[in-house]
Amino acid sequence: MIGAQKRSKHGVKENADLLIVNANELVTVEGGSQKPRTGAQMQELGIIRNGSLAVKDGKIVAVGKTPDIIRVFKSENVINANGKTVLPGFVDAHTHLVFAGSREDEFHMRVEGTSYLEILGAGGGILRTVRETRKASVEKLGDLTVERLDVMLEHGTTTVEAKSGYGLTTKDELKILEVVQRANQLHAMDVVPTFLGAHAIPLEYQGSPQGYVGLVVDEMIPKVAEKGLAEFCDVFCEKGVFGLEQTRRILSAGKGSGLKPKVHADEMSQLGGAELAADFGAVSADHLLFSSDEGLRAMADKGVIAVLLPAAAFSLMNGRFADAKVMINFGVPVALGTDFNPSCMVENMQLVVAFACHFMKLTSAEAITAATINAAHAVGRAGEVGSLEVGKKADVIVLDVPNHKFLGYSFGVNLVDKVVKNGRVVIDKEARKSEFPILKE
Ligand SMILES: [Zn+2]
Repeated sequence: MIGAQKRSKHGVKENADLLIVNANELVTVEGGSQKPRTGAQMQELGIIRNGSLAVKDGKIVAVGKTPDIIRVFKSENVINANGKTVLPGFVDAHTHLVFAGSREDEFHMRVEGTSYLEILGAGGGILRTVRETRKASVEKLGDLTVERLDVMLEHGTTTVEAKSGYGLTTKDELKILEVVQRANQLHAMDVVPTFLGAHAIPLEYQGSPQGYVGLVVDEMIPKVAEKGLAEFCDVFCEKGVFGLEQTRRILSAGKGSGLKPKVHADEMSQLGGAELAADFGAVSADHLLFSSDEGLRAMADKGVIAVLLPAAAFSLMNGRFADAKVMINFGVPVALGTDFNPSCMVENMQLVVAFACHFMKLTSAEAITAATINAAHAVGRAGEVGSLEVGKKADVIVLDVPNHKFLGYSFGVNLVDKVVKNGRVVIDKEARKSEFPILKE
């Protein structure tokens, strides 16, 4: 057992605010807080059988075998995880959380074969969501955001990254980031803000993309930084969106203002986004469907995290997914995210884990590592979340399955029994058990 051994000496038990006991598997994912896990380490989950953990003041104070923990701790709040699997809360490393409207009709166009970039080129896609988001009030966007965070939490996500990028004017980008900030203050979820003013060239700048890059660099980034509204700066580096030179200019300006670089790289074409991310020392490069081997090797050398978004690739419907196995072989740390946005409407990281297993051939263990500690590194939170270790936030999920291999294997349903956020039980399916089974009248 780690933590608190000395206190048991006189037989007086220490009070914990919460105990989770008897877990069939307690998946700690311990030991990866300093550096993201790579290669074979991604298989190491640090599983404790008949595991238990103790929580005090929102933090984990002990982790170990159940008999060892209950010898030392008592609590009025005990979760019996007998037959269940306990994991760190999921970290969703890439979302476009704040937007108004929806695009289900464009989904049908995609089903019939129109491509994402064709829809964007015709003023749809991101640009349509921009029109609707500009019109929406802060209150409306706030309500939508909170509803989405509730759904994410219900599915076991306890930390989420959120990008701006549907404003594309200084005023509207600030509005979105203020909604993110407010959501982080109000909602149980931890929300990590990223500035993505370079998400698309807005209609009013279609004739002068350089003018828009100038606006992002000279006006938006300084204002965002001055107001402390973002930690990361991201760019949609893609053919017909922002090129390599523009991406460099924007990320440099962000870096100069203290915003750490991230990049949407090689999603729909091989533009050299992976190479740029490595060259630039980006924290992460995301998507990477078309990256070259040289680009991926360079990312491995520089420790740039690959944030893979299989649900986004799934919704693009062209049958292509990032080559996660090659990345893992090269030593690139792999993380996962939903890419929740109006063209990829999924809040559920369990489904993303399943997609990672089915389409990218990750094992359940690799996908869990990617969705917890490595995702925490990708959003700058590995010191406080992403594993079940003493001193970290008590962000814990209890799944109604006997072992971790059910993640990926059982898909399309919510396996969450309980979600504990900062030591507080915020989702409890067990409490609703009396409603089941639902019988004929
Ligand atoms: Zn994205």
